[in-house]
Amino acid sequence: MTDIKVASEIQEVISSGRILNVLIVDDSKVIRSAIREILELGNIQVTEASNGKDALELVYNNTPDLVLLDVVMPGMDGISVLRTLRKSYSKMQLPVILVTSLGSSSEIVQALDFGASDYVTKPVDFDVLWARVSNQLMQKQTAEYLRLAQSNLEKQIKQRTAELNNSNKQLKEEIEVRLLAEDQLQKQANYDELTGLPNRSLATDRLYQTLLKSKRHNLQPCLAFLDLDNFKYINDTFGHAAGDELLREASRRLTECARESDTVARLGGDEFLLILEDDRTNKEQQRETGIRHIGERIIENFSKPFIIEGHELNVTASLGFAIYPKDGDDSNKLMRHADVAMYRSKNEGKNTFCFYSPEMSAKAIMRMNVESELRQAIENKEFTLHYQPIVNSKTGHIVKAEALLRWDCDKLGMITPDCFIPIAEETGLIVPIGAWVIKTACKQAKQWRDSGWPDMCITINVSARQFQANSQLVETIKKALKENDLPSDAIQLELTEGVLMKETDCSQKSMAQLDEMGIKLLIDDFGTGYASLSYLQRYNFDSVKIDRSYISNILISKQDEKLVKAVIAMARSLGMSVVSEGVESKGQLDFLIKENCEYIQGYYFSKPVPSEEFTTLLKKMSKAGHSVQSLKIVSGVN
Ligand code: C2E
Ligand code: CA
Ligand code: CA
Repeated sequence: MTDIKVASEIQEVISSGRILNVLIVDDSKVIRSAIREILELGNIQVTEASNGKDALELVYNNTPDLVLLDVVMPGMDGISVLRTLRKSYSKMQLPVILVTSLGSSSEIVQALDFGASDYVTKPVDFDVLWARVSNQLMQKQTAEYLRLAQSNLEKQIKQRTAELNNSNKQLKEEIEVRLLAEDQLQKQANYDELTGLPNRSLATDRLYQTLLKSKRHNLQPCLAFLDLDNFKYINDTFGHAAGDELLREASRRLTECARESDTVARLGGDEFLLILEDDRTNKEQQRETGIRHIGERIIENFSKPFIIEGHELNVTASLGFAIYPKDGDDSNKLMRHADVAMYRSKNEGKNTFCFYSPEMSAKAIMRMNVESELRQAIENKEFTLHYQPIVNSKTGHIVKAEALLRWDCDKLGMITPDCFIPIAEETGLIVPIGAWVIKTACKQAKQWRDSGWPDMCITINVSARQFQANSQLVETIKKALKENDLPSDAIQLELTEGVLMKETDCSQKSMAQLDEMGIKLLIDDFGTGYASLSYLQRYNFDSVKIDRSYISNILISKQDEKLVKAVIAMARSLGMSVVSEGVESKGQLDFLIKENCEYIQGYYFSKPVPSEEFTTLLKKMSKAGHSVQSLKIVSGVN
């Protein structure tokens, strides 16, 4: 393409028919005219100068294609003119043919040395003149074409090179962009964006590689699952930005605890995974000791407070270890078992680590079953409420009933609340389940109130988690009261200290709203947490329920006896009433009556019973009169 272009340009110059211009310099007008005539016949344009000076001026103004220069002229002679011209023009640029009468060859050689292109001698032979002129012009033109072609070629090459460079550059940039994108994709596919740690997919791959290697070399790598304790609480309380920051700091601390050959990965949320490579201490005992050290180091490292957005936060971690091959000979089993061990750590009070043991799995499987069955329990109508009487110690009347949830699972049979309530709380299922409890209890309260016990109050257990579910709890209660046309004193809420421990804006707001509605709050299991009575007063708690563990000890431990007495006295001074739960014997009852504890609840009177049975209790109670003595008659029901 380029070659065709160059050739066509030369062709253009040749065929352009440009009229060539020759300057004749001679002092003789006759000679000038004679030469002019000849040249014009050859279609050449002619300019004339009669002396050297004029000739130079003409050349500088409008350079001709050729000069015919007379050597002998008055003033500036031809040789001087030639020498001057050669300072500005090369032979190629401007051919000069000397017209000389000098015959001697040495002078001609000298003239050629000075830069003459050719010569003709006087008297001029016009055929020779024409031949030399046209020869010079041809040479000049050819040179010009060549130069043009060359410069064109150079231009083309330059352009080509530039184009190539450019596309090279573009290509390079494109490659760079693509590499970057690939790198990014690779990162996204394999690394966690927030912490920069390997993600689940890369970790799984690394685990697979580690196990392959370990099988070949008889190594015992260890898989660790780690879950931050209370992370959700911090995330909910301080916001996601703080949560993110915390996760980054946590991953930094974790990485610090691991060796370079180990893998620290984030699985998502506040879950991390560590692959601890075997450093070839093959004895089982030593292997566990080594891992134990790492566990201790991690727990220790997390015990320092995290400074997040100016807050000093205490975040601990729970870990589970599973060692290859004894705790699992493939990555799936190892993962599952490390997870099971981690759950054990949680159950043991968090902030600790556990090694997997086979008996843990049975529990974990049970837990998993419970969780999946729990999801359908409401729909399958597997829940019922049992009611346990709460008796006024002075009148002997059943004045309240604690609603206690019972779950008769179609698949798993009877499951105790102590087993399923914590799972419901963890999974958040307690929110819909709790709402069902509230609705059912309100319906029941309405029924008893309409059938002869107009002051009957049902106490309902409420978990911390229900308080955190926005205004749902308040709305559910409002709706249930309204639907059953009940006043607010028909129910009372039993809260554990956990609700206060997990105090959030949301739970505070809910408590204030409930207070406004006239719903009375009771603090449950008092003495098992950290709340002091005066602290509870801040939240308008109406009553305190002394935990069963103290009541069962009052006749055995002086310490507990003193404590119960003190709680009753203090509660009274703060205007709160006291309920004692777990009363099983007459001795305990007598003690509590003596100490003026207003409300008594326990097996001594009745276990929690279904609603119909409870109605029977109420009826018997009405007949039995009002002395405390008669309470024992109620207990006969069981
Ligand atoms: P809690 O609130 O402390 O309930 C009292 C527990 O003590 C009940 O166990 C009750 O059956 C038992 N109890 C009552 N009197 C005696 C006694 O004299 N001796 C002994 N040894 N035990 C007695 P239950 O029904 O198994 O409930 C266990 C826990 O489950 C409850 O402890 C409560 O924390 C939770 N729970 C039960 N129902 C609900 C519910 O509807 N919602 C929520 N959030 N939690 C519930
Ligand atoms: Ca309770
Ligand atoms: Ca209790």
